[in-house]
Amino acid sequence: MTLKVHNTLTRDKEEFIPLDPPKVGMYVCGITPYDETHLGHGRAYVTFDVIRRYLEYSGFEVTHVQNVTDIDDKIIKKSREFRVTSHELAEKYTQSYFEVMDKLNVKRATIYPKATEHIEEMVGWIDGLIKKGFAYQLEDGVYFEVDKFEDYGKLSGKRKEDQESGARVEVKSGKKSPLDFSLWKKAKEEEPSWPSPWGEGRPGWHIECSVMSTKYLGEQFDIHGGGLDLEFPHHENETAQTEAFTGKVPWVKYWIHNGFVNVNRQKMSKSLGNFFTLKDVFEQFDPMVVRLFLLSTHYRSPINYSDVELSAAKEAYGRIVKFIEDIDFRLKKTTERASEIELEDIEEELGHFPDKLKASMDDDFNTAGAVGAIFEAIKFCRKTLGDGDVERECLETMKKTIIEMCEVLGLKVASRESRVTSHEIEKLIKEREAARKNRDFKRADDIRKQLAGQMIELEDTPHGTKWKAQA
Ligand SMILES: [Zn+2]
Repeated sequence: MTLKVHNTLTRDKEEFIPLDPPKVGMYVCGITPYDETHLGHGRAYVTFDVIRRYLEYSGFEVTHVQNVTDIDDKIIKKSREFRVTSHELAEKYTQSYFEVMDKLNVKRATIYPKATEHIEEMVGWIDGLIKKGFAYQLEDGVYFEVDKFEDYGKLSGKRKEDQESGARVEVKSGKKSPLDFSLWKKAKEEEPSWPSPWGEGRPGWHIECSVMSTKYLGEQFDIHGGGLDLEFPHHENETAQTEAFTGKVPWVKYWIHNGFVNVNRQKMSKSLGNFFTLKDVFEQFDPMVVRLFLLSTHYRSPINYSDVELSAAKEAYGRIVKFIEDIDFRLKKTTERASEIELEDIEEELGHFPDKLKASMDDDFNTAGAVGAIFEAIKFCRKTLGDGDVERECLETMKKTIIEMCEVLGLKVASRESRVTSHEIEKLIKEREAARKNRDFKRADDIRKQLAGQMIELEDTPHGTKWKAQA
């Protein structure tokens, strides 16, 4: 089997052949750090993490570049509210992003270029686009002229004419087309700004991705990823300005977009009040449960977040952990002696499950199928364990097989006690006791829920609080 990838650009599942194998250049649109990281981010970055992990598992050498949009309107607005600099605000939420992504076991990108550290290069590109006749200057900044780029719409499949007639007419805008987008924004009073031939200001959002991706991956590269919401206009605009600037087509060989997150079958949005940050979610559910939930749906399909679905993922994750714990328990008791069931009896059959996982992943990173293969393998092992006395080597191979399959998907499945240290649990129990003394029952309850999310159960006895790992 060879790896096949759905390419948004061709709307087809294609064989994956990078430009310069075994190297793979992958650019993923990163965060604008003005608020806490939410479930939608979780979905996107777990998707590209599992794609990267699988490419590496398949022998490719991945350079993963992910930008940080550390200057933009929302950052400026919020930093004023908080009375901090835009830099301080961006730093705070970038750190917060790394914290939750580490918990989700998302590998760090090779490099995280920041927009504010590449302004000079962006100015160079904008200057070049003006000179090549693709951009023009207005009073408030510089714009890309969409009509000059013949292929506009090729990525999203949206026709320029339809978009233009649908676009709102902007009052006082001197733009030649409503689709023309900002490359450079002149600074308003007291906004953070950088010098340019068109006055003090800052770059538009789209240009940073073109400049930073090509700087670190070359003028043409293999994979560009992001959420479906970025396909138009962000990625369409990135494509237009990059191909206009470099003259090299196609800029990106494979475009990959992940689907939306719905909450109780409704679109997740701040205005609907059904908006979840990952920190909120982790208070109730172990990050690995969240990761398993995200991987249980194909990355291109919408995913529905609800307590029912998360509870099902928790139960499923518990089954994997319990299996590893049961094997560990048997290993403690089993000695090197003749047994009814030996490794050679089951080796071949057990080997089919990792193959099944690979076949699923080769089919456009079908993580749902891969997760299914893990549970089939566990079912097979459980049945074997029930059939009689199993030799030590066989138990070890079962454990190794399941752990390795989980690792391909970035799922950590060590036993609970080794994941949450007892020291951390004791500390939280002491904090909960103090909260109860102070009649802060909300805090006390939050701690209980947090531990429950990590599958730790508390029992209050006359001699103090005891804890145990949930079955
Ligand atoms: Zn981008």
